[in-house]
Amino acid sequence: MNQHIHCSVNNCHYWAEGNKCDANEIVVTSDSFGSSMPDRIDATQASTISATPASSCMETCCKTFVERGSKNINVDGVTRL
Ligand code: SF4
Repeated sequence: MNQHIHCSVNNCHYWAEGNKCDANEIVVTSDSFGSSMPDRIDATQASTISATPASSCMETCCKTFVERGSKNINVDGVTRL
């Protein structure tokens, strides 16, 4: 359960009241990796993703983010809890 993951990105498909993340799993990567990889590369492939070091929090991103209502919600195998 990911009830310990808090998030304020409230237009994400996985966001829930109280600033909770309701995704069954997420993956955080570097911004450069996140912007260069398609939406289907996500938490379900996390064990195969190469290291993506960052110098600050501003260089990291939630790769699992998908905008609410997007046609890409189901392309990565991540589900709501
Ligand atoms: S998937 Fe990422 S952006 Fe979306 S609610 Fe969870 S932590 Fe926030």
